[in-house]
Amino acid sequence: MQEPFGSTTIAEAIFLCDCPVCRKDAGVTDANDNRADRFNAKELLEKYANIYALLIYLRHPGLIHAFREHECTLQGTRFLGNNDLQFLFTRFDIQEASGIVEEIIQEQYKFLVRKLEPRNEQTRISAEEILPISEDPNRKGEGDFGQVRFFTIQHEDYLGDGFKDQQVCTSVRQYFMIMLIFD
Ligand SMILES: [Zn+2]
Repeated sequence: MQEPFGSTTIAEAIFLCDCPVCRKDAGVTDANDNRADRFNAKELLEKYANIYALLIYLRHPGLIHAFREHECTLQGTRFLGNNDLQFLFTRFDIQEASGIVEEIIQEQYKFLVRKLEPRNEQTRISAEEILPISEDPNRKGEGDFGQVRFFTIQHEDYLGDGFKDQQVCTSVRQYFMIMLIFD
């Protein structure tokens, strides 16, 4: 397994950080600090890896305890919304909680790149979302509905099962797909 934080040791050191912010976020004091017992490298570096990386980025790694309690992860094909993060309001005052929730929602796209899946229905994608594609700069068409461009998928890992089942691409890097761009 490739370790997202370089090594388990670093993840553990951050997990156990003794600074006041981490202690407050984790909800522990000197007297009741049981974080060492709660350290689970496998869980942290797999199921919770994306959300943990995001919390570190936002300088609130201690909140990972609350995310684990509420089984709130950032993985698969779903992004987090306000409703998923309501539990943060029990830990902070409204202003601080709102700020953290806003930052998480805004920055989450840097930490989860969704796999591409074939869809029959039209899908709206947030302008913030990062797509694992390289776009052909030349337009293939343009109409009232938008522009049509070809793109290549940057890595096989970003192809969802739907594409794999159909065996649409023997060589992913050379396979072109069509994307509609709406202005
Ligand atoms: Zn700290």
